[in-house]
Amino acid sequence: MSTHSDIPLHYVILGAGAAGTLLALELSKITSPSFRITLIDNKDFHEFTPSIINVLLQPTTAELRSRLNSICPLLAEMFKDTRVEVIKGVIKSVTTEEVILQDTKVPYTHLAICTGSSYSAPYKLSLDIETVEQRYDDLLRSRNAIESTDSILCIGGGPVGVEMVGELAARYPEKSITLVHSKPELLEKIPGNLGADAKASFEEEYAHKAVVKVILDEKALPSSNGDGSYVTSKTNQELHPGHVIFSRGIAPNSEFMTANFPNCLDDQKYIRVDEFFQVLDQTNIYAIGDVSNNPDPKLFFTAHMQAMHLCKNINAQLSGKQPAPYKGSRISYAVSLGPEVGLLSFSDGILTIRGVRRMLFKKARRGSRLAMFSKHMIEKVSLTGLPASAMNNILYYTTTK
Ligand SMILES: Cc1cc2nc3c(=O)[nH]c(=O)nc-3n(C[C@H](O)[C@H](O)[C@H](O)COP(=O)(O)OP(=O)(O)OC[C@H]3O[C@@H](n4cnc5c(N)ncnc54)[C@H](O)[C@@H]3O)c2cc1C
Repeated sequence: MSTHSDIPLHYVILGAGAAGTLLALELSKITSPSFRITLIDNKDFHEFTPSIINVLLQPTTAELRSRLNSICPLLAEMFKDTRVEVIKGVIKSVTTEEVILQDTKVPYTHLAICTGSSYSAPYKLSLDIETVEQRYDDLLRSRNAIESTDSILCIGGGPVGVEMVGELAARYPEKSITLVHSKPELLEKIPGNLGADAKASFEEEYAHKAVVKVILDEKALPSSNGDGSYVTSKTNQELHPGHVIFSRGIAPNSEFMTANFPNCLDDQKYIRVDEFFQVLDQTNIYAIGDVSNNPDPKLFFTAHMQAMHLCKNINAQLSGKQPAPYKGSRISYAVSLGPEVGLLSFSDGILTIRGVRRMLFKKARRGSRLAMFSKHMIEKVSLTGLPASAMNNILYYTTTK
């Protein structure tokens, strides 16, 4: 569309993850010459994070490399036929008028902050990783640490931890894997009681090939003797892992706001936004995705739906219409339990597919191939240009409240 105003507008998008890339792609459809879009990220590629565990644990390093390439399109390639200008650089600070990178400043009229969150290695990238090649080396280090030991301790039983254990058990049936989760159930934040299915799946499905031990309602704490062993917080079980993988707690990437917008950060450093994704007291700064304090679960899917909503609001404003408040999305979950099976929960738990799964596979509590198929489809859709746009519109209109 074209804007009804000739006033030059420069939308600068910070972060080329789920939210930032989709927002840039959607905004690039605005054809007005007075409308500029710039996308800034510290690396030259986009990474489809939901597939990273599967990539890490591919059977061979050649397959790891090839699969990594498939989920890490280069930004230059993604945006080559668009009017989005891509700048590579680490965001150091933001003022009311410009974004300050390590060696340059980018002025803006409007800012969309999509810098996401950090997670422990190997899941998300640190800021010093700039190329797919460096990401490959980074994943290889994690993979070597996993391969060089017989016993792995996984701490945290949310979707990421459960997926990691499922993939590890399937790939390395000879290793002993212990999953410790501080809550009474795995996946306790996902509706549909999927945690019980995941636990049963680990204990039954993999029983003949791997030792997967699940310890619930306890924390794994480093033992005081400093030998790298752990002890559980209630039953004092001693654990002697050769390698520990932490799958808990995300931290928002919002440090660059600290200097000039300290009041816009909540006590956990999430950026405070209203129902229009407008940052506290700022009329031209928005934040979406993992970095904002919007109450949606922190997901690739919700980051996408928020990007769609913000784009529609920007379009509405450019046409002189009122923006609409964002009221959240109905969430479906696909959690992998290994390379071939997964668990699926639709829309706030209104319908879980467990019944269907039992009917189709007659293997209750073992996870379904249908769920894994859904996950593969989500990856395909998320990483493809035009169909993704159509699909995101369908998802937006069917899932947002
Ligand atoms: C292992 C794993 C599995 C997951 N699986 C799923 C799943 O199956 N389904 C699902 O819906 N969600 C899943 N998630 C969650 C999902 O990945 C996140 O919610 C989503 O990536 C958030 O998108 P975002 O755009 O807000 O941030 P991100 O995707 O984190 O993108 C932020 C971008 O900003 C850049 N950036 C940050 N700080 C700076 C800076 N200072 N300077 C320059 N650039 C910067 C980063 O490099 C990155 O490219 C998973 C997460 C993990 C870790």
